[in-house]
Amino acid sequence: MSVDPTPWPGPDKGALFVVTGASGTGKTTLVKAALQAIPSIGWSVSATTRPPREGELDGRDYHFLSHADFDALVADSALLEWAAVYGNRYGTPRAPVAAALDAGRSILLEIDLLGARQVKAAMPEAVLVFVLPPHAGAIEERLRARSTDSEEVIRRRVSQADDQLAGCGEFDYLVVNDVLDAAHVRFQSVLWAELQRRARNPRLVSTFGRV
Ligand code: ADP
Ligand code: 5GP
Repeated sequence: MSVDPTPWPGPDKGALFVVTGASGTGKTTLVKAALQAIPSIGWSVSATTRPPREGELDGRDYHFLSHADFDALVADSALLEWAAVYGNRYGTPRAPVAAALDAGRSILLEIDLLGARQVKAAMPEAVLVFVLPPHAGAIEERLRARSTDSEEVIRRRVSQADDQLAGCGEFDYLVVNDVLDAAHVRFQSVLWAELQRRARNPRLVSTFGRV
């Protein structure tokens, strides 16, 4: 059989990935690398009332909103899910997720446990991935090493880590972020495998299959 030189464009039916884990576990680090490596997965830009960190861009990392603007999105049912996390509110705009999935594209949400539960309830076909630290102490070490948050914010995030971790048993996949290179492989393996499910690729079956 000759090899088709056209790169595989991704599956016909996209996946909705939800990535959750305690703050400081390394979710954003893993997600950013995965989105570079797997261009067929899009990123959902959340809305938040949290102020931007240094280096964060409005519209790329988050939509940074006032409380009044966030209230308006909630009132309009414009959020697929939302939750108060570490003293701020965060939510997933509904329309871009629906547009991606309707067009057969995959999309990834990096959201907290309460948000993940809301997405699973609304869309049971979502693929839920939980990122775990190698041990509880790693969360505080990493938040301090990241140097983006005040002492008070770090303390609040560390004290609430257990509440997030407690929900890991509700997820489809558990990825331990110990050695970063290994964690990238584990995380991206989950995403790649899900994209290659037969059920997401009916055109490949109709092209090559006989039964
Ligand atoms: P989260 O998005 O879960 O809050 P980040 O991705 O911001 O976490 O990671 C928190 C900090 O930990 C960052 O400074 C990041 O560079 C660092 N980090 C991520 N993964 C590892 C790892 N495997 N080992 C050590 N440090 C890590
Ligand atoms: P950070 O302030 O570190 O960017 O994010 C704090 C927490 O908010 C993380 O656990 C992150 O997953 C969560 N988060 C970010 N966006 C959303 C969202 O749209 N919805 C929900 N429920 N949580 C979010």
